[in-house]
Amino acid sequence: MTVSGAWRRAAQGAMLLGDDGEVRPTIFAEMSGLAVRHGAINLGQGFPDEDGPTEVLEAAQRAIRDGHNQYAPAMGVPVLREAIADHRERFWGLSADPDREVLVTAGATEALTATLLALLEPGDEVVTFEPFYDLYAAVVALAGATLRPVPLLAPEFEPDLDRLRDSFTDRTRIVLVNNPHNPTGAMLSKEALQLIAELAERHDAVIVADEVYEHLGFESKHTPIATIAGAAERTVSISSAAKTFNVTGWKIGWLVASPALVEAIVAVKQWLTYVNGTPFQHGVAVGLGLPDEFFSGVASSLAHKRNVLSAGLREAGFSVSPSAGGYFVVADATPLGYSDAATLCRELPERAGVAAIPLSAFVTPENRAPYESLVRFAFCKRIDVLESAAARLASMG
Ligand SMILES: *Cc1c(COP(=O)(O)O)cnc(C)c1O
Repeated sequence: MTVSGAWRRAAQGAMLLGDDGEVRPTIFAEMSGLAVRHGAINLGQGFPDEDGPTEVLEAAQRAIRDGHNQYAPAMGVPVLREAIADHRERFWGLSADPDREVLVTAGATEALTATLLALLEPGDEVVTFEPFYDLYAAVVALAGATLRPVPLLAPEFEPDLDRLRDSFTDRTRIVLVNNPHNPTGAMLSKEALQLIAELAERHDAVIVADEVYEHLGFESKHTPIATIAGAAERTVSISSAAKTFNVTGWKIGWLVASPALVEAIVAVKQWLTYVNGTPFQHGVAVGLGLPDEFFSGVASSLAHKRNVLSAGLREAGFSVSPSAGGYFVVADATPLGYSDAATLCRELPERAGVAAIPLSAFVTPENRAPYESLVRFAFCKRIDVLESAAARLASMG
């Protein structure tokens, strides 16, 4: 039978629809397969390989024992919404009404999907930085909207502000900003954030801020775009427990926005998951209340991991971009004699015992040229794992 439907738009948006009309597996699946086949250390996918804080894990176990095992309220359990609002005030000086401006979601993934589907009409445009998290293109395409990517170029991956300006049109409905940035590790300057806020206001666009790495700024602290003057009222701030507490399997995320925006997003979200993860929501509420030292400790431990991996990459001969935040570092394979990082990534598991992802996987096909020789490595792994990955890379012959 013919299977028709919106899946084709999603696959095409995500750059996974082959000329034969078949959906190709993602490069993540291909590289993970190679990693298993060659017993390589998998620095392709960005998930941690150790547990987060015991307090958080135990709070979820306790919640199950205490009978928090049924549907949560549509907006999320009240203790978590209050913890999200308190955390936002404590770290970023921003206030939020936990009853009307906070929505708990099935990870940042659902927060992003519900927001994009709720706010976009077919024909609308979404400005975002390229390379980008793969979900963005898929969901923008599902909504029938068009992505307007603004390139971030190596080695610093800072946006060209004139190009950013030129990307806005009278059809721009959303500017989707991931900061700190996956896959480049870049953090936007105050100036860039101010310009985004100004352009969003001029074009009456909503700012969707994917800030899942909000606690993972290394040398400088993250600046939430909602703290820029005039931005908060038109911003949907999205975060997640996954990256801060090493609980990617829990799928607990949230968003903070004005009551009108939250109402529109809930109207879509209730038909996606409705609600999820009641006991995990209780665990995350405890996590968000952990002392400041926990949060600064997460950033400093990752900064150390970044240093270890970056040193190994440099010794292997890569030229390594600075990573200011998040889980990833980008390395250029040109000095190794590779103009095509995808070829290198297919060889790396066997040759060096390490797997990684070519940056072109995060770029629309027509814009790939400046990214062909670049590779993304994840450093959110145990320090001993990173040390052996660095040693394997350094001795790569
Ligand atoms: C991991 C990640 C997400 C998804 O977060 P979940 O809470 O696991 O759904 C969204 N955006 C970016 C940039 C990410 O790296």
